[in-house]
Amino acid sequence: MTIAMQFLGAARYTTGSKHLLEVNDKRILLDCGMVQGPRKIAERANRNLPLEAGSVDAVVLSHAHIDHSGVLPRLVKLGFGGPIHCTDGTESLIELLLADSAYIQGSDARHLKKRGIDYEPLYDQDDVEVTMRQVVGHPYHKSFEVLPGVQVTFLDAGHILGSALVVLDVDDGKHKLRITFTGDHGRKELPILRDVEPVPDDTDVLITESTYGDRLHGDHPDMENELARIIMDELDDGGRLLIPAFSVGRTQNVVLFLGNLIEQGRLPKLPIWVDSPLARRSTKVMAKHADYFDKETRAMLASGRSPFFFDGVTYVGDATESKALNDQREGIIISASGMLEGGRVLHHLKRTVGERRDCVLMVGYQAEGTLGRKLIDGYDRVKIYGQKYDVRCNIRSMGGLSAHADWREMIDSYGHLGKQLETTFVVHGEERPALTHADRLEGHGFKNVIVPVKHQRVVIRD
Ligand SMILES: [Zn+2]
Repeated sequence: MTIAMQFLGAARYTTGSKHLLEVNDKRILLDCGMVQGPRKIAERANRNLPLEAGSVDAVVLSHAHIDHSGVLPRLVKLGFGGPIHCTDGTESLIELLLADSAYIQGSDARHLKKRGIDYEPLYDQDDVEVTMRQVVGHPYHKSFEVLPGVQVTFLDAGHILGSALVVLDVDDGKHKLRITFTGDHGRKELPILRDVEPVPDDTDVLITESTYGDRLHGDHPDMENELARIIMDELDDGGRLLIPAFSVGRTQNVVLFLGNLIEQGRLPKLPIWVDSPLARRSTKVMAKHADYFDKETRAMLASGRSPFFFDGVTYVGDATESKALNDQREGIIISASGMLEGGRVLHHLKRTVGERRDCVLMVGYQAEGTLGRKLIDGYDRVKIYGQKYDVRCNIRSMGGLSAHADWREMIDSYGHLGKQLETTFVVHGEERPALTHADRLEGHGFKNVIVPVKHQRVVIRD
């Protein structure tokens, strides 16, 4: 009779979230995320999953972001036939995100083939369809049984649509245990979605993310103001502003802010293009899930204003329209991917990076090894699609828009549980933030704080 956790991804780094809960001879995989970053490393890790796919009995997803869900079809292709549990919102989003990922891999394979390189995608649209048949959507706050003796309840994580704190109640007849997995811990006062709920008081084991374990977002009581200031500052002499943003969540937040600023007359009516087919589709999905919105956004809808669709914002469709944007030298382009690791944003970056009047504004976390991180770190030359470019445009960033809590916000959320938690695992952070967060938790009286390395297995009950 054993309860154990094994950490198979996002252990001392941020992507590829995969944590395996073993309850006796049963195995539940929490998240099944794609590793992102340097291409060769990511490719190897995503192709050869760190566990036997057929040995997993069920998957529980915290949310839809691809670094938490992106290799599900690979797991299925390699032999996983069990249920995939998530919230209803996550179910709607992964359908889009996984299909998008299969599409990108397919087109990469075609490009590489032209250069004589054989590349087999990790999975294709058929694999995504099979995967979606295994998905079971659940509402928040309604417990369900994943396996005999393991109940799961999803609480709102306030991170993206459908994101959840995963509460697992394990009762194997001998042991009773409540494990709470934060997934990506969201923030209060972010627009559109409801705030993150507290970690339940009777948690015994906490698995917490630590993306911002060593940083504070800074006080941006008015993120709209900050955005307006940067835009006015950067575009007063013309030029264009390129905002790389995740298609899901961040893009919609930025669009909402821009709409508010224009509505209030704090920004001139600049043309805004959202150039990501996925952002266009996910915005439509979000608009359908208004029941997940906070009261401000519901009130806005009730007054007849849409947070996402208004005069001046254009959701770019096909590739021809996207290419035509190259000639638009003034305005705001929001495009994916958020860390500049692929997608249409790279075509826009090629035309922006060398222009002194232009600006790239980062509104999200940039993982180590990504092109986005290189720009923030001040590289004066970067490679885009194999070609080198001088960086002449301004690079700005706005941390306040992050959908991850910083360390203080996490301590505010669960710091008071320190004395009662028997074990805390700190995951989903690069080494320094993870270790810093762990130290700080110990300072708050947390016992048995573990920052696992990849593959580490820890027996919780024996
Ligand atoms: Zn996330």
